[in-house]
Amino acid sequence: MGIAIEDLERRIRTCTLCRLSKSRKNAVPGEGPYDARLVLVGEGPGRNEDLHGVPFCGAAGRFLDELLKIAGLTRPEVYISNIVKCRPPENRVPQDDEIEICTNNYLKKQIALVKPKLVVAMGRTSAKALLGSEVNMATEHGKVLQHEYGGVKFQLFVTYHPAASLYGAQAKLKLKEDFSKLSQVLKLI
Ligand code: URA
Repeated sequence: MGIAIEDLERRIRTCTLCRLSKSRKNAVPGEGPYDARLVLVGEGPGRNEDLHGVPFCGAAGRFLDELLKIAGLTRPEVYISNIVKCRPPENRVPQDDEIEICTNNYLKKQIALVKPKLVVAMGRTSAKALLGSEVNMATEHGKVLQHEYGGVKFQLFVTYHPAASLYGAQAKLKLKEDFSKLSQVLKLI
C-alpha cells in the first residue's frame, strides 16, 4: 500500500494536467502516515507550501498544529492533503475544472489508499468538493456526516479553514470549538 501512494505522490509532483501546473514552484501532494485513521483536507497550497512542497507549513499550518493539539492529535498521526495540489495564482479559489481534474486523479485515490475512518473538510471549498454541493458553513460546521466519496465510505467532519482564524477572533473560537468536538468524535470511531 505504501508503494502505491508513494507512486501517486511522485505523479502529483510532475503533474501537468491543469493550468495550475504552469505557475506552481512545487506541487504539494500531501504528508502523513499512509495508514492514518484521519485525513485532513484543505483547499490548496499557499505561498509557503508552494515554495517548500509541504502542506500547511505557513501561518495557517501553525494554527492547525494548535487545533490538532485540542483534538488530542499530533501532525505525524494524520494525513494532510488539499483539494488541489498546486497553488492557484494569487491564492485565488480553485476553479471547478481544476478541482475536478485534481480530485479525480489524486485526492480520491489518496483517500482510497489511506482508507481513513474520518475525513476533516477544512473550509468551504474543501467541504463543497467532498460533498459535491454547496455547503452552508454556518449551519454545517462541527457536524459529522456519513459519506461516500470515490467509492470509499467514511465519516466526514466539516469545519472552517484554519486560515479563517487569521481574519478574526470569532472564526478562531469556532475552529477551537470544532476541534474540541473532534476529540469526542475520535473516541467513537
Ligand atoms: N491552505 C490550504 O488550504 N492548504 C495548505 O496546504 C496551506 C494553506
